[in-house]
Amino acid sequence: MILFKKAAEINDWLLKSKVSGQKIRFIPTMGALHPGHTSLIEASKQAGSISVCSIFVNPAQFNDATDFVNYPTTIEKDIDALEKAVCDVLFLPAVSEMYPAGNGNEKTYNLGYLETVLVGKYRPGHFQGVCLVVHRLLNIIPADDLYLGQKDYQQCMVIKKLVELEKLNTTIHICPTLRETSGLAMSSRNMRLTAEAREQAVKIFETLSYVKNNIKPGDVAALKQTAIDKLTNAGFNVDYVEIATAGNLDLINHWDGNRKLVAVAAAFLGDVRLIDNMLL
Ligand code: AMP
Repeated sequence: MILFKKAAEINDWLLKSKVSGQKIRFIPTMGALHPGHTSLIEASKQAGSISVCSIFVNPAQFNDATDFVNYPTTIEKDIDALEKAVCDVLFLPAVSEMYPAGNGNEKTYNLGYLETVLVGKYRPGHFQGVCLVVHRLLNIIPADDLYLGQKDYQQCMVIKKLVELEKLNTTIHICPTLRETSGLAMSSRNMRLTAEAREQAVKIFETLSYVKNNIKPGDVAALKQTAIDKLTNAGFNVDYVEIATAGNLDLINHWDGNRKLVAVAAAFLGDVRLIDNMLL
């Protein structure tokens, strides 16, 4: 695996590879890698050509400074995991490399409704920070294909919108959420959970499964409330459990029995915020 720390150097190398007919498959991450991340590398490897992973804990997307400071970093292990996954290139920039003029959000992305609901509502400014970094990364890494995890369902919608707004020439691939055998969605943030909290955290998956197994056409408000109560009773501080239309995240209280839906949840266990979703 080739490691680049400088934007100009990786850009130059990738542009030359493109000229020689190679395609660039890109997997952006914030590190503290787990099998969910490496499943994205594997998906990109199936397409062939060059797999590029980036590791950058993006300060611009943390609306909570403590969350940023506490974000896990395991760079030596990450490099090992990427070598094992036969990733071709790692981009590991410093903050000053990504934001040479500071990380003032000088550009605003018109995300509309998507930024006002769910994660957007509870983490103000978060998706602007995501767009800022992904846009910069895509300027440095001219990706033909971009691999994202369904785990961050709303983020996938936001990045699709970014690609449309900025007319970026990249195809998005959304890969399934990898879970522990317990059902808990793999997440870098799980590293911050105690063994006991990790067991409790499975309740998010169980609650989403409950919604999936119990949804019926008609009123769904009571089902949502039951789901919130289940998480609250299990010791979570719940931001939301919602049922929304898949693809555009319209929140619904009534289901016609036909529209494709997704159940989404965000809740704190102590100071660790966990999110998950399930297509219904
Ligand atoms: P992160 O490092 O958390 O910013 O995630 C980097 C990429 O990995 C994003 O596209 C995530 O959606 C994806 N990802 C994170 N967790 C999982 C998982 N459990 N399964 C599949 N993809 C994931």
